Amino acid sequence: TTGIPHLGNYVGAIRPAVRAAQNPDTESFLFLADYHGIIKCHEPEMIHQSTQAVAATWLACGLDPERTTFYRQSDIPEVMELNWILTCITAKGLMNRAHAYKAAVQANAENNQEDPDHGVEMGLYSYPILMTADILMFNANEVPVGRDQIQHVEMARDIAASYNHLYGKDLLVLPEAQVDEHVALLPGLDGRKMSKSYDNTIPLFVPAEELRKKIMGILTDSRAPGEPKDTEDSALFQIYRAFATPQETAAFAQAFADGIAWGDAKQALFERIDREIAPMRTRYAELIANPAEVERILQRGAEKARAEATPYIRQLREAVGLRNLSRFFTGEATGIATSSGTA
Ligand code: ADP
Repeated sequence: TTGIPHLGNYVGAIRPAVRAAQNPDTESFLFLADYHGIIKCHEPEMIHQSTQAVAATWLACGLDPERTTFYRQSDIPEVMELNWILTCITAKGLMNRAHAYKAAVQANAENNQEDPDHGVEMGLYSYPILMTADILMFNANEVPVGRDQIQHVEMARDIAASYNHLYGKDLLVLPEAQVDEHVALLPGLDGRKMSKSYDNTIPLFVPAEELRKKIMGILTDSRAPGEPKDTEDSALFQIYRAFATPQETAAFAQAFADGIAWGDAKQALFERIDREIAPMRTRYAELIANPAEVERILQRGAEKARAEATPYIRQLREAVGLRNLSRFFTGEATGIATSSGTA
């Protein structure tokens, strides 16, 4: 929840997750990761607005809150409790190897910064533990991720196994990463990966005319109308492919070979994308105009999520020894407790 969703988020995360959640054999949990959002973004208004935009986007894109447990992370205090329990059993060395942290250390070295940890907050350093708590809190079997996140799901497995080993019970489920090979990595306006960090995004839900203008700004080469054009190096073509059927893509490739003018290719791309997203854009506008409706859906989601998390965290706390003292009167007292009365 640190920005406004763009076409890359839609193709790479939203569309596949919404489709997967429609599978009657799976039970899906999707959440707004706002505790993760505040790691790097220290602008309260941005977090707040982005939370609304991201929630409205997923709902407009077809997430059914009746079928999917859809909640805001910060509405589930149990996640934070589990986060601390897991922090207490996670080796610091494991976090040293997490790649967001390693990338920050490397950037410091490249900038001749003496302190390798310059600019690194504890949130960035230990966020794989929070991610582990997010996953384990709801007994996830499969976690759909991009390649860069496989490492974190493996850390979640390691941490869950440590907990189970230490406390002698198989209370935590070991999750598996699930990487979908067919999901495209969308390039942005400048040809690099579309990302808010590169400021090269095409927002998902802007008015149609603004979408058209953005698409007209995609970088192309200088080949004139009539000259054959390359498809593989073309960001425009890659984006088209992510929205089109195989037949439409083949026809578009043929048009490239036949020397379609860049202006016409961009117009075709705009029309193809708009056909898919126009109905969702209308729904998005309705939701943005009605924040109380979005909040109601999130509160209902939090209720459903906590109905599972509250009894589960009680078990997880019990297992580590965080227990109700009245148990001492039922014959379970330890020697220390009976002799001092306070341990
Ligand atoms: P950004 O790079 O703009 O900061 P995030 O890191 O917030 O985007 O990504 C949110 C989700 O969208 C992740 O699941 C990520 O894999 C996916 N995603 C982001 N950019 C793209 C892209 N260009 N192509 C495909 N998926 C993407």
